[in-house]
Amino acid sequence: MTMFRATYCPDCGTKLVSQWFEGKDRPYCEECDRIIFQRPIPCADVAVLDGTEVLLIKRTNPPHVGTWALPGGVIEAGEPPAEAAARELHEEAGVHVTPVDLTLIAGYTAAAPQGWYNSGYTYAVQFDSVDGEPAAGGDASAARFWSLDELRDSAEQLRPEHDEDHIQDAIEELRTE
Ligand SMILES: [Zn+2]
Repeated sequence: MTMFRATYCPDCGTKLVSQWFEGKDRPYCEECDRIIFQRPIPCADVAVLDGTEVLLIKRTNPPHVGTWALPGGVIEAGEPPAEAAARELHEEAGVHVTPVDLTLIAGYTAAAPQGWYNSGYTYAVQFDSVDGEPAAGGDASAARFWSLDELRDSAEQLRPEHDEDHIQDAIEELRTE
């Protein structure tokens, strides 16, 4: 399976044909006798909350280059989502969290520009439960806390899936604990 709709078989290189399966035309390899499914990319991200402020990073990689977003990224094969979230938080924002300290607050699916789409888990944690001070790394060029007012006033600078409503949900979720 691939994130793009495949044209050639990723295993044997044969040009794929179309086969109807479960309500859709799917790319099919006649050599391997199998459908090459297009799948969403599983992602995980973290809202680190300091009161009603949230830690965001500025993205330097597609999609949404230059927007501010929750630290996060693609879950590796075999990696539990919370571990992926913790790893990406450290890579992009420089702070450590123990995966078990993360609270799962939402799932989402989002279209991405090249015709693929991702599907994510959003976690939240209070800043006093993480170690270190924010410092950008990986595919982030900046990392800092944003207030909710600033988020509302700067909606166009935010990654669409990580807009102020999504972050507000994270804040509300941790408040009720
Ligand atoms: Zn094949």
